[in-house]
Amino acid sequence: ATHAKERKILFMGFRSVGKSSLIIQFVENQFVDNYEPTIENTFQKTFKSGGQDFNLQVVDTAGQDEYSIMPQSYFMNINGYVIVYSVNSEKSFKVAQNVYDKLRDMKGELGVPVILVGNKKDLRMERVISFEEGKKMADSWKAPFLEASAKENPVHSVREVFEKIIHVITTQENGGVQN
Ligand code: GDP
Repeated sequence: ATHAKERKILFMGFRSVGKSSLIIQFVENQFVDNYEPTIENTFQKTFKSGGQDFNLQVVDTAGQDEYSIMPQSYFMNINGYVIVYSVNSEKSFKVAQNVYDKLRDMKGELGVPVILVGNKKDLRMERVISFEEGKKMADSWKAPFLEASAKENPVHSVREVFEKIIHVITTQENGGVQN
């Protein structure tokens, strides 16, 4: 048997976009309506993807805004980044770009192993950011994009978030060759 690979993923984005909800849905298979962490929290989950076992550490950051300064810990031993906005918040979409810009400045030429997630796609009536706008922003980062919902059943979209970031990490580790 092959060993589980240890990988660490950081969730970023404006407050209340559903970072904690996505992580808790993935780790505990439940939607928690009133989870209010103001501090950073790390979750663990074993996950099988592409025949490989992963031991994931998922860091839920307290959230960023356009003025946030990124601590050094966001750059050390992090294998991949999930930047989340919510489809009902223009502000969160702008913050997603800000967060990416800061990561890019820090990571430079190496490129950032990142995906963009538009969360709360179940809120159809409140949507202000279209799928196309999200896709366009992710394309400009050369990053995968998907929309998700931590609330909607069935919650395939949550698993996809983790499949995608694992794929990005693995691809980058293999020297950028898609397999
Ligand atoms: P965070 O601050 O980014 O970690 O956001 P939370 O996970 O705490 O979620 C903020 C609020 O949005 C909570 O009331 C959640 O129940 C709600 N929420 C999170 N994800 C979704 C979703 O996909 N759909 C809907 N409708 N609400 C969500």
